[in-house]
Amino acid sequence: MTPENVQADEINEPSPAVVYRTGICPKNVSTHATCPGGVAASDVLIGDALTGDALKNKVVAFKFGGSSLLGADRMLHAAGIVRSSTQSCSVVVVVSAMKGVTDRLLAVGSALENGKFAVAREEADGVVNVHLSVLRDLQLEEADELRVRREMQSLCRDLLHDVNNYSRPLAGTAELLDRLASYGERLSARLFAAALEKSDVAAVPVSSSDFVRTCETFRDARPDLLETRQRGRDVLLPLLEESLVPVVTGFIGATPDGRITTLGRNSSDFSGALVAHVVDADELVIWTDVDGIFTANPRDNQEARLLHELSYDDAHALAKSGAKVLHASVLPLAAETEMVVWVRNTFNPAGRGTRIGPHADLTSSSQDGGRA
Ligand code: ASP
Ligand code: MG
Repeated sequence: MTPENVQADEINEPSPAVVYRTGICPKNVSTHATCPGGVAASDVLIGDALTGDALKNKVVAFKFGGSSLLGADRMLHAAGIVRSSTQSCSVVVVVSAMKGVTDRLLAVGSALENGKFAVAREEADGVVNVHLSVLRDLQLEEADELRVRREMQSLCRDLLHDVNNYSRPLAGTAELLDRLASYGERLSARLFAAALEKSDVAAVPVSSSDFVRTCETFRDARPDLLETRQRGRDVLLPLLEESLVPVVTGFIGATPDGRITTLGRNSSDFSGALVAHVVDADELVIWTDVDGIFTANPRDNQEARLLHELSYDDAHALAKSGAKVLHASVLPLAAETEMVVWVRNTFNPAGRGTRIGPHADLTSSSQDGGRA
């Protein structure tokens, strides 16, 4: 699979699987350190189950970005990464909308704002069709396809109802824009849960608006951490106990009276951190379309080097210097809760990625130190 604009990882480092195989991951060393994201890379690379008791109680949160979910093939590929990890870990997944969908939904909103109702309807129909065609491409068994289609159609009906409800230009549409934008994640969560089921992983879509409680600042809502954690545990822990993979919508929350909010553009990383905190995950893996965090943008700068190991302060300093690292709210939460965050490439799952943690991981930095 060749993602758009992805630069191949030319750094010839030992992958976690190789490290593990050569015995540098002994039993008494934290397996978090050398086996990021559960054991996904190891499993993908060597197919070993690595189901030692030490790993059984591990919980990992995986966040997949929009380009990792763009179309049925990519969804199934990402589902394969989750499946590998479920052999040894409990996994909770957080998804973005498919790439480009949030922009299109916001365009529906601005068309409504400007009184261009036909344009709004056309764009909304386009969004519905894109998702239904991914569902077709997933080639589920008939009964599964019918069930998922029914769930998606009910969501799409709500979307079209929202769009058809207006016949006069709108003012003050922040609340409507959030509701419209939320359909992207709600649809991708259903599709990704279906892709997991097709890959023999029992999964359930979960709307984060069921537990991410926020203020009423639509389009940039702040979550109430305590309440989100309590409510989220009630929703997610029973699913994990039943060995189900919850597929949680990134980006969205709800006000105390149940109106949908969003946490700001590109905030699904933050949702990933919130969900990881809710379930006390051992680590959060942000699966994206580059090999990790670089010294500069690898797409414009050939000199850019992949950073293997960062402290929260290093990552914060990089972000301040203008590097596109992670959504700005991830690092403060990660630092506060001492959560280990990995940034890894969905399209190169054998690559190690970048680890951000409270302190350098000596087991892997001894391998990587000279390059980072
Ligand atoms: N789908 C949302 C956006 O495009 C959130 C995200 O992808 O992180 O802003
Ligand atoms: Mg994104």
